[in-house]
Amino acid sequence: MEAVDAGVAVAADAGRVTLPQYTDDAGTGSNAGPSTIAFDAGPADAGKESDAGAPVTGFDAGPPDVDAGRESDAGAPAIAFDAGPPEVDAGRESDAGAPVIAFDAGRSDVDAGFTLDAGPVDAGAGAALSVHTALGLPDTSAVGAVDRWLLVKPQFVVSYDTIRKTPRWVSWRLDTSWLGTATRASSFRRDAQLPTTAGQARDEDFRNSGFERGHLCPSADRTNTDPDNDATFVFTNVVPQTRASNGGTWATLEDEARDQVRLGKTVFLVAGPVFGVTSQFVGAGVPVPTATFKVAVVVDSPAASVTTSTRVIGVLVPNTTSVSGNWRAFRVSVRSLEQATGFDFLADVPRAVQDVVETRVDAEP
Ligand code: MN
Repeated sequence: MEAVDAGVAVAADAGRVTLPQYTDDAGTGSNAGPSTIAFDAGPADAGKESDAGAPVTGFDAGPPDVDAGRESDAGAPAIAFDAGPPEVDAGRESDAGAPVIAFDAGRSDVDAGFTLDAGPVDAGAGAALSVHTALGLPDTSAVGAVDRWLLVKPQFVVSYDTIRKTPRWVSWRLDTSWLGTATRASSFRRDAQLPTTAGQARDEDFRNSGFERGHLCPSADRTNTDPDNDATFVFTNVVPQTRASNGGTWATLEDEARDQVRLGKTVFLVAGPVFGVTSQFVGAGVPVPTATFKVAVVVDSPAASVTTSTRVIGVLVPNTTSVSGNWRAFRVSVRSLEQATGFDFLADVPRAVQDVVETRVDAEP
């Protein structure tokens, strides 16, 4: 896993990250004015220099005074994230016909050493971790890594950014065993799998924000038991999402995956936010994604191999108040999503197969 190791090592060197100024988007009214906040990633950075995939423990989220500084009674603090290295930015045009969105691939200190789609770097690592990541891990998330904290749950797997306070990706397998008649849970809660010192969004961040608490792993994908449904109602599985996306276009995509399962298929899914170069925020500094992405791999059975003829769907839905219509209009190649996010989807699938299924855009009716 040399390529991804390098990314972690780079992150470990960046003890102090100066975040550039944030220019408030017109109309958000949430920002008292631009400022620059420097985060100290804490003295335990050196601990991240472990083998990728290995749990990294004992990481200090940073001194309390820094955490305290993220709260703002004026609304959202002014935080912007580095747009990443120019060579990454240059490749962010979407496929023709797809929505064109300016992407922020993430913090440059984290991404600088990441070699895009170098896989399979460690075939089998995803499957060894969870059935939900059987096709591979999108990146080198690890327990204790503050900007990519790995949360392995019975119901799904998350990489959570405790600084941004949003998930980076959520990965889950969907088959009939997960579908039933459980009662939809009624409230979100803090994810107790993260230590209380780790940043996490809260209900009050979303209240009166104009944005919904949008599930990544949908509630309706976990209806086999009440506890499994309840497990989706954690803030590590939530991004700020517009009503138009969450209840509209994005919902049609969630329905499609369940429709495929009812036809006898198994679907491997990865979903997450994509951030713009500048962001608006809800509450105490939770950035609003510019778009949400989803990768859906449709196979005949849980153990089926991905081949060049496997249906692989990539979708990018703008997180706007005006987005509308069926998900099919928002299909893009998975490769374009890799360029937008810096992740390697299907990392444990042979590279030659990835090169075929990730570079075509699903066109099934
Ligand atoms: Mn890939």
